[in-house]
Amino acid sequence: MARLTFLGAAQTVTGSQYLLEGGGRRILVDSGMFQGEKALRLRNWAEPEFAPASVDAIVLTHTHLDHIGRVPRLVKQGFRGPIYCTPPTEELAEVLLLDAAHLQQEDADYLNRKGLTKHSPALPLFDETDVREALGLLRPVPLGRPQEVNHAFSFTYRDAGHLLGAASAGVTVREDGRETQVLFSGDVGRFDAVLTRDPEPAPDADYLVIESTYGNRTHPALSVLDQLEGVLKKTFARGGVLLIPAFAVGRAQQMLFLMDELVTAGRMRAFPIHVDSPMAIDATRIYAAHPEGSKVSLGNIGGRSLLHGKWIQFHRTRAESEALNEMKGPAVIISSSGMLSGGRILHHCRQRLPHAENTLLITGYQAVGTLGRALLDGASTVRIHKGEVPVLAEIRDLKGLSGHADAGEMMRWLSGVRRAPRAVFVTHGEAEAAAALASRVNRERGFEVRVPAHGESFDLAPGLAGGPGPEVP
Ligand SMILES: [Zn+2]
Repeated sequence: MARLTFLGAAQTVTGSQYLLEGGGRRILVDSGMFQGEKALRLRNWAEPEFAPASVDAIVLTHTHLDHIGRVPRLVKQGFRGPIYCTPPTEELAEVLLLDAAHLQQEDADYLNRKGLTKHSPALPLFDETDVREALGLLRPVPLGRPQEVNHAFSFTYRDAGHLLGAASAGVTVREDGRETQVLFSGDVGRFDAVLTRDPEPAPDADYLVIESTYGNRTHPALSVLDQLEGVLKKTFARGGVLLIPAFAVGRAQQMLFLMDELVTAGRMRAFPIHVDSPMAIDATRIYAAHPEGSKVSLGNIGGRSLLHGKWIQFHRTRAESEALNEMKGPAVIISSSGMLSGGRILHHCRQRLPHAENTLLITGYQAVGTLGRALLDGASTVRIHKGEVPVLAEIRDLKGLSGHADAGEMMRWLSGVRRAPRAVFVTHGEAEAAAALASRVNRERGFEVRVPAHGESFDLAPGLAGGPGPEVP
């Protein structure tokens, strides 16, 4: 009998990793890094629950580190099989994993230099060599094309609408002449979102594994464009600079698209935009190279290339970045990291926060303990690079750009399911969010639901052979 084991994102939002066994073979769906609390992060260092060399293949849903960040380590530990992903995910993974290796190395160097480690020396979770080796195993598979893995497994990707290249994976397990369909939602995006396409509704499957990041919440219905226009106009009227900390992949491109839309619609005159993040520049190039992956083409907005618009400038070098210090408003600087936990945005903050004409615009979730969270909570001074920085700039929060479906949107995504699955496993959400979505799915659709614990395994019965099961409301 096929078997599914939950080795991450079980009652938490990070570390996605599912082990699927059947027909004498085994594959992983995602192999993501644990992030956040230390107790979780330590799991990244634990020995895997399986021999990496015994896994036949990995099927990745998308490029976020909490879905791919344990891959280089598995390769280092002996995994040699193919790693399937969509074509944009292959390109974005290179950017994100190399950056992650770099940050890992920096952290290890810092701990060693300061003597802050009981390991001698502290080592990175993986390094650039491990990443290069992992990248060499990537096998791109386009959306909608069935892919054979071996005699026991095949899968098909469907658009998950969460991020360029993000997919749900419908996996078929074949054993003793019977088939079992298991649909992994991956991260499901929003309907009518900025830039990203709508998620494809879920198909019928014998088992579903669904995310629940916002399983107990409803996103506010606010126009992102109206909010952004207000913030830009107010800042520019003061002659200020709008500073936008943004995740380099996804959020930075959404911001470029939104600002282009304001200008194209004649709501504002063109204004200078500076993208100050090598990773965001690479990611924007990949977005532009995959017009099929977004709702609108970033490479050709309004009949011209947004990437080569005169009013958008990309800054790769440190010198170019520092030159922006002298710049006067009105202007926009987009830089990372998104939670202000590091990166070039910090030196822009040191420069711009002490002046009341400027605005800092938060565009995404800010974890507790981050500089972004402190600023949102109204800190009057913050510590950056060991210096006290007074906060006189206006701090604003742009709402409505979440990359994840809320509870209602998850139900809408599930509306594609016509035949009751044998079970729905609710993962990728904190315990309360997962429980809330599970009970809603059970209440509104009548499906069997489970909220698996970390390490828990389930036997999967073969599909209902000989045609569809009973139709459900
Ligand atoms: Zn994601």
